[in-house]
Amino acid sequence: MGTTAKRAMEGQMMRWIGTLLLAIGASAGLSGGSLEALRHSREVRAEEIHRGERPLLMFGESARRPNLVALTFDDGPDSENTLPILDILRRHRAGATFFVIGAKVEVEPEITREILSQGFEIGNHSHTHPNLARLDRTRLDEEIDLASTQIEATTGTSPTFLRPPGGQWNQGVAEAAASHGMTTVLWTANSSDFNTEDPNKIAKNVLSQVRPGGIVLLHDTVRATREALPAILKGLKKKGLRPVSVGELLRETQSGPAALRQQGR
Ligand SMILES: [Zn+2]
Repeated sequence: MGTTAKRAMEGQMMRWIGTLLLAIGASAGLSGGSLEALRHSREVRAEEIHRGERPLLMFGESARRPNLVALTFDDGPDSENTLPILDILRRHRAGATFFVIGAKVEVEPEITREILSQGFEIGNHSHTHPNLARLDRTRLDEEIDLASTQIEATTGTSPTFLRPPGGQWNQGVAEAAASHGMTTVLWTANSSDFNTEDPNKIAKNVLSQVRPGGIVLLHDTVRATREALPAILKGLKKKGLRPVSVGELLRETQSGPAALRQQGR
């Protein structure tokens, strides 16, 4: 490859990484300004992403990604809907991350284990679902820690992603999550499934907002979401988008340059 082509590829790579909206590492990101500012920054540098640290915050989203989207289901495990949702996902060979509430894991240990044993990912959605951004550090640590401990005691696996309830986050939340070894995960496509009982509307919300590299917010506590899921999965397929877990999206992100080369860029 010639120097010009190589430079063009590197430039493209840098822009691509910039649009990932990944704020990398507490030391790298937080000293230079707020996380909110970082979200809008296009200057997260390629070297930072390859320092081997976990990202502090993931919004998802990159127009240049190979066609992956992360599906996320919050608020379970749910005795009515979680298992049927796992079935639908498996039938469509779709991956997903379930952000579970620690206190519910305590009530539904079998369903929690089923999520993992069927090949899906589990994330931390706090222990009792408070607004984490309003808690003092002690309570914040407690909410994160109790949920992770419950998940680990139930499944033998510790979560590495935190979805703050209601998406309520601030720098303190992201820092606390990072101190527990977790990346805070937000979303780019909101199904607004908590606002409607109409499966068509939920599918439409997702399919109109979703883009390659995005993260979709759903709830496995909502019956209409389960009913909307086949249409969502068919719609994603039609758009050439492959649903995966957050972990897989991140792994693909970190191997981005290789993925770009595969695409012949
Ligand atoms: Zn929630």
